[in-house]
Amino acid sequence: MNHRWGDPVRFPHKTEHECLNGCRTIKVTRHESEAARDVVWPEFWRDGEKIEGDSTPECEPVAVGGCAVFSPDRMYRYRLERELPGEGIIAAIIMVNGSDADETSNDHTVRKLIGFGTRLGWRRIIIGNLFAFVSTDISGLRTAADPIGSDNDRHLEEIIAAADIVIVGWGTVKKLPEALRKRWIDVVRIADRLGQQLYCLDVTDDGHPKHPLMIGYDAVPHPWDAPWFPNRVPAGLEVAP
Ligand SMILES: [Zn+2]
Repeated sequence: MNHRWGDPVRFPHKTEHECLNGCRTIKVTRHESEAARDVVWPEFWRDGEKIEGDSTPECEPVAVGGCAVFSPDRMYRYRLERELPGEGIIAAIIMVNGSDADETSNDHTVRKLIGFGTRLGWRRIIIGNLFAFVSTDISGLRTAADPIGSDNDRHLEEIIAAADIVIVGWGTVKKLPEALRKRWIDVVRIADRLGQQLYCLDVTDDGHPKHPLMIGYDAVPHPWDAPWFPNRVPAGLEVAP
């Protein structure tokens, strides 16, 4: 994403702009007069150190705080939170499975969500998953005895209830082991029961909500209707065990 430079702060031979996205980058424009000519050049600084290189460094906003709820053996991650510098809404994001990200360290997806949330002015992100089982990729779900996690529905309910907006992003269900492809219906049911409309950033070919990593920063959340049944799951539709 692009930096969003704040108002200039002027000094005798330089002007500083801090990035309002919270990536901690400061653009320093230096200006000197040399032989009656003005010479101007930019520098980029972060945390008191100059960033080397000729190009503008990436804008990677950082969270101002975070926490996580794991099972005691840490095989299941039920909830992951990040506090953002914004003062806007609380967004819940429901994706596929637990990842390496924890109380303090971010993975690719969490960094991307912090980017989205910063741009949209969110104040907090709460991440939940269809499957709380911690695995770096979906294939790990195939071998897990209980990929969902015994406490997951309770946490999903709390996450969805706590959010101002619930964004789903589990991607196409075709990539999941067959027995797990209807798990998303449980989440639709929980949201339905709590009166929460589900949102997505984009949809896949099979009508499922695209994963945030596959979406550009210009996307904005819009209401998502579950494929096959607008707004709600018809009674009697059995969920695969
Ligand atoms: Zn920035």
